[in-house]
Amino acid sequence: MRINIEHVNMIYPTGKQALHDISLTMESPSLIGLLGPNGAGKSTLMKLLVAGLLPSSGSITVDGEPLVKCERALKGKLGCLPQHFGLYDELTVWQFLDYMAALKGLSNAKTILTRVIQEVNLTEKSNARIRTLSGGQRQRVGIAQAFLGDPKLLIFDEPTVGLDPEERIHFRNLFSQAAQERLVLLST
Ligand code: ADP
Repeated sequence: MRINIEHVNMIYPTGKQALHDISLTMESPSLIGLLGPNGAGKSTLMKLLVAGLLPSSGSITVDGEPLVKCERALKGKLGCLPQHFGLYDELTVWQFLDYMAALKGLSNAKTILTRVIQEVNLTEKSNARIRTLSGGQRQRVGIAQAFLGDPKLLIFDEPTVGLDPEERIHFRNLFSQAAQERLVLLST
């Protein structure tokens, strides 16, 4: 997969220019980090990449096709953790991920769920209600749902917020591993 961003500007209706003439190419496999202070425009760029926003000008193409034309196909290959990801507090970790798997069209998800829950170190919390989890554990549920369905493109907005140093190392390794065969984009 190759994503090409050319001369993209993003001006919000408020008049705020969040991105100014951004051009870059991202090609799988790779692990790409967007580094910058708050307000630098990282989330805005990620929203543009998942077609949650349209750029004010410039173009974004995926494998040579304009993003607006291949948006549906891209969403089938995409795993995403947005900055403010909503979890259903009354569901258990397992129930929530099972629901997310169903939304992604995955049937017979038992093996997939067991693996993904293990990957984010939540096996012991599998039957716990989400409202009882710590901030870091909730974040890990968010990361787990992004991995469902083996997406070829993974986009994580500040995925290690709320995680302790040991967990950060674990997740950095997990992302590097995922990036051996995929395009992984994360902001920090
Ligand atoms: P980052 O993710 O790097 O913290 P953002 O992409 O969230 O940065 O924000 C970039 C700039 O755009 C900031 O100045 C922010 O206040 C502004 N911004 C973000 N979203 C909106 C919006 N919906 N309307 C107006 N301004 C916005």
